[in-house]
Amino acid sequence: MADGKVEHNSYEVKPHILERFPVASRSIWKDVSDKDWNSWIWQQQNRVKNLEQLGKVINLTDEERKAYEGSVEMFNMSITPYYAALMDPNDPNCPIRLQAVPKLGELYISPTDMEDPLAEERDMPVPGITHRYPDRVLFYTTHNCAMYCRFCTRKRKVSDPGSAAQTKQLDDSLAYIRAHKEIRDVVISGGDPLSNSDDRLDYILGSLRDMPHIEMFRLGTRNMVTLPQRITDDFVNMLRKHHPVFVNTHFNHPKECTREAFDACRRLADAGVVISNQMVLLKGINNDPKTVMELNHKLLMMRVRPYYIYQCDLSQGISHFRTTVDEGLNIIEHLRGWTSGLAVPHYVIDAPGGGGKIPLLPQYLVKKEGKKVTLRNFRKQQFEYNEP
Ligand code: SF4
Repeated sequence: MADGKVEHNSYEVKPHILERFPVASRSIWKDVSDKDWNSWIWQQQNRVKNLEQLGKVINLTDEERKAYEGSVEMFNMSITPYYAALMDPNDPNCPIRLQAVPKLGELYISPTDMEDPLAEERDMPVPGITHRYPDRVLFYTTHNCAMYCRFCTRKRKVSDPGSAAQTKQLDDSLAYIRAHKEIRDVVISGGDPLSNSDDRLDYILGSLRDMPHIEMFRLGTRNMVTLPQRITDDFVNMLRKHHPVFVNTHFNHPKECTREAFDACRRLADAGVVISNQMVLLKGINNDPKTVMELNHKLLMMRVRPYYIYQCDLSQGISHFRTTVDEGLNIIEHLRGWTSGLAVPHYVIDAPGGGGKIPLLPQYLVKKEGKKVTLRNFRKQQFEYNEP
């Protein structure tokens, strides 16, 4: 797989493309067999979950130790060996490490923090379904993830095994969707829905596909980033039965664009899945235009469309990740016009209190006088457009 040849493919990716996607080093797992390393079950079973294990992978700082002790009761630490191996063992500010290892900022609840900033629980007619918009719902099928991202907006329930969806809840959610004929689009989220077995996902997707009013569904998953081994041939063959299937994933930094991630996206894309990326703007990780442009270029090479840049939510204990809105606008200013339009995602704030996604753009409309509209382009040159 890592040599660019995938059995079910009719084409071979050119070496000059592949060399831009390095294979992850195996760090302390260098003696693990290929069979185990490439098994998502092995990766799940060998996740780094405590300080002793973590201390073997990176040189822990005092701050990281204290942050782990202070946060573990509230939000688990869990890092797949694959993702842990991407961390710089000597740099506490490594963008991979910042996403996976607790920092003291997590213990601070800022006055503007909210437990449920998007009011997802308020608009929950039955447990497991958020129904806010007329024609679509958010459907939670599990609260487990391969890795627990330190900036997670759903920390209030993700990683808490007591709040995971049981079979009855799943069936009640499906019954709600079946009864509401106005729903045409289902966003299956979590936790990470790929934490479910293939059989369980097949049951969920098959049940939805049997409902005549359901036109499409989207799977929201970070597995291509944190556990690309999960995207097996069996998994993509199961998805093929349920098209159209859309996958929204969540790459935040170019370092996450490895050969393993490339192959995972390729398997999905070859199976006809349309993949989009939803990056979150995170201080110290991706809050500069150069990083975002590199990430988006790599994503397009991986057949993933950059879709959203989210302003970081007001969830509790993640204020150390938040940036200003001006930083987000500056990133868009440095993308639009300077690179392919396909590499320019929508920059949005998911409005606190459940107001939905609000797009933000730099100001390109200079003035409007009568029928004369003055615009400026990405080079700040001005142009006039006359309305009819
Ligand atoms: S994968 Fe998504 S739901 Fe899971 S911890 Fe990360 S951000 Fe939260």
